[in-house]
Amino acid sequence: MTPFFDTSIEYLKGVGPQRAALLQKELKIFTYGDLIQHYPFRYEDRTRFYSIKEVREDMPFVQLRGTITTFETVGTSYKKRLVGHFKDETGTLELVWFQGIPWVLQKVKPGVPYVVFGKPSRYGKTFTIAHPEVEPESEKTTRGGWQAVYPLSEKLRARHIDSKFISRLQQEVLRAGKPHIREVLPDSIIRNHRFPGKQEAMVTIHFPETSEVLAAAQQRLKFEELFYLQLRLLKMKLVRVEKFKGQVFRDTAILTQFYNTHLPFPLTEAQKRVIREIYNDMKSGRQMNRLLQGDVGSGKTIVAFICMLLVIGGDAQAALMAPTEILAQQHFQNLQKYAAPMKVSIALLTGSTKRSARKEIHEQLESGQLKILIGTHALLEEEVKFNRLGLAIVDEQHRFGVAQRSKLWQKNTEIYPHVLVMTATPIPRTLAMTLYGDLDVSVIDELPKGRKPIKTTHQFDSHRLQVNAFLRSQIDAGRQVYIVYPLIEESEKLDLKHLMDGYESISRAFPDLAISILHGQMKTEAKDYEMARFQRGETKIMVATTVIEVGVDVPNASVMVIESAERFGLSQLHQLRGRVGRGAEQSYCILMTSYKLSAEARLRMNTMVKTNNGFEIAETDLELRGPGDLMGTQQSGLLDLLIADLGKDGKILSDAREEASALLEADPELVKPENSPIKAHLSSLRKSTVNWAKIS
Ligand code: ADP
Ligand code: MG
Repeated sequence: MTPFFDTSIEYLKGVGPQRAALLQKELKIFTYGDLIQHYPFRYEDRTRFYSIKEVREDMPFVQLRGTITTFETVGTSYKKRLVGHFKDETGTLELVWFQGIPWVLQKVKPGVPYVVFGKPSRYGKTFTIAHPEVEPESEKTTRGGWQAVYPLSEKLRARHIDSKFISRLQQEVLRAGKPHIREVLPDSIIRNHRFPGKQEAMVTIHFPETSEVLAAAQQRLKFEELFYLQLRLLKMKLVRVEKFKGQVFRDTAILTQFYNTHLPFPLTEAQKRVIREIYNDMKSGRQMNRLLQGDVGSGKTIVAFICMLLVIGGDAQAALMAPTEILAQQHFQNLQKYAAPMKVSIALLTGSTKRSARKEIHEQLESGQLKILIGTHALLEEEVKFNRLGLAIVDEQHRFGVAQRSKLWQKNTEIYPHVLVMTATPIPRTLAMTLYGDLDVSVIDELPKGRKPIKTTHQFDSHRLQVNAFLRSQIDAGRQVYIVYPLIEESEKLDLKHLMDGYESISRAFPDLAISILHGQMKTEAKDYEMARFQRGETKIMVATTVIEVGVDVPNASVMVIESAERFGLSQLHQLRGRVGRGAEQSYCILMTSYKLSAEARLRMNTMVKTNNGFEIAETDLELRGPGDLMGTQQSGLLDLLIADLGKDGKILSDAREEASALLEADPELVKPENSPIKAHLSSLRKSTVNWAKIS
């Protein structure tokens, strides 16, 4: 952008201080540049004119030509409305306004030929169009018959700032500004992809002549946006690799000893590959920043432990942070089993660790005696000081804030520890490339041998008796069952009531069985007690809310019943399902829903029934919910794109990443003269709200 586009929107013809304030407040449009980057979200084809006698009530919109014969005001107070009787050669209909009546009377005059646009509805025999767009035929601004439709707010509409109005502003800016629009993509990319130039694309996106040129302009602008996003991420990665030295761990003696004598099962090829990738990082002298993705049950824990051994072999310490107390405990129990025969000291630190134990942990940690510390965000507290932290592992990262995570690795002030972020929520490739574009990614894409794929069915509530009979048969065969209730209401009390109602009806259906219950409002000791009973097989059914969503590992549990499954998102359903299928037995997931399902809910159920593949599910989830919802608001700042859509533009994104990476490979500092416009544009792009440096 050139200085022309930094001009305040206030100075644009037709805007002025009041509208400028509105545009700033409602749409964050401060400058000419912001305006032309306020892209339409759809277009209406207005090539076609209808005659009044052709109007039907099921039309989404119609465009008519005619004149208003008379106006009349009907009703009083809040029922007051203005009716304009509108006619053409074939008939009449009514144009109706409920608001802004004085403004309409001032602008719209009887007898003048108008083009009218809006959604028709029918009252008795008469058709009406409420709040139509009305434009003198002589001033019609749309070119080629396509009208861009812009994101707007109610406030703006009430002040008569509609898509037509925005179009007029765009026309005004582009008329003077077009020559000031600079090309920011390299020639070679434009040629290879047959993209239109930037000037042409910017005009077309607001005023398309045909659907073909519009598609080309959209492709180009999306590509440009994603190209710069990737360029920025890849540059950060380059900088980090240069800037942050890593501790060197290459002594594999302890690791090998474990591998040869205590490994409880042969590793999968994927596990071995990931361990090699991590080892290569840790001996390289550069700080590792790696995302480890692996579906539930893929065996990330043992991988984490083996990496910890590598660090311990180098006389340093390792930490693992989990998002919940239950998870931290489970990690602790599992890792303790691996650590015991190796005589490696390991401790658990959570909010409920007793004062005295806490003090001991702090001391042993600082002296270096304690090698592995597992815990919740309690690890982040000031008093937790490591002697030498070599590896910080964060499990289920999306539950932690970015700032929280970075705190953990700032525990070593001299030299950052290596960082491994583990997630069981498969992140679609497009999102991973964006959210973690500056991290290296490892994937465990293979489940341990002998696992049978979980069989998933969708049942309506009316089949509850059959479902209960099935549960009974599984329990008789020695298995255990989870029954999960969603958090439905805003109020925790009501949620608890749902759960308790469910618990009661299950108790009635299985009067002879011991049943556990688990929910978020229970005290830690009570939770532990119930979990332990279920784990030991003393209770056969676990009735729970989504507190069991992550990590809980009871291999003998073979059935997961999800109540009101339509209320869960796909990734959550997948997480829950992952609680079963951990043993050798055939496992089942039963999705219970009511009859009434939205099309989207049906798609979610079908997806779950169809596939066990977490990545496939994540892709569908992304399409359904969009990236912002998927990742939660925490990271949505990174996903604030103007025109590209990570849910839909995966192909463009990978193309853009490839090109960005090729460009940086050839010219990492962007010092070549032909790349100077790119360098300039990159540094001019507005800073993201998130502190990027903290992510890695
Ligand atoms: P997640 O990736 O979900 O954290 P875990 O590490 O909890 O998975 O592993 C799930 C289960 O699979 C555990 O009971 C673990 O002992 C077992 N497991 C892990 N790797 C293997 C393997 N290579 N062969 C057999 N079982 C394995
Ligand atoms: Mg796990």
